[in-house]
Amino acid sequence: MSIGIDVKPLEERVYRYKQPFKSFYCPLCRTKRSIIHNFRLTKGNFFQIVLITIVINICVFPFTGAKGLFFIFPVWGVFEFVKRSLFKKEIACPHCGFDASWYKRDVKVARKIVEEFWLTKAGQSSALKDEKLEAEAIS
Ligand SMILES: [Zn+2]
Repeated sequence: MSIGIDVKPLEERVYRYKQPFKSFYCPLCRTKRSIIHNFRLTKGNFFQIVLITIVINICVFPFTGAKGLFFIFPVWGVFEFVKRSLFKKEIACPHCGFDASWYKRDVKVARKIVEEFWLTKAGQSSALKDEKLEAEAIS
């Protein structure tokens, strides 16, 4: 699709992941993005959940009996929470700060996040410049 304007991504050389869960282009800066964490639990995760529940049961069985099996639910909940937070962390674009999950919920907040991202980025680069100038002044 051409719209007559030469649009270039902010970052053209991005790290390529072997098996990304999702690949897409950042809607704000057009950089190719990859997300490696799937927010859904995998078979391996369920295996871990069962294993952790068994270990918990070995410890609590004398006190709780078969009721200890219900520990599978909080363990499951923790896994879901960790997976989702890993996924959410990855959504935000590392090049321009655009966060699609916030954009869906509140556009104003998403704008603010992008603004803050660029402010801190500008702050960092000017701090780097200062350091360089200082280094040059010393030598
Ligand atoms: Zn971006």
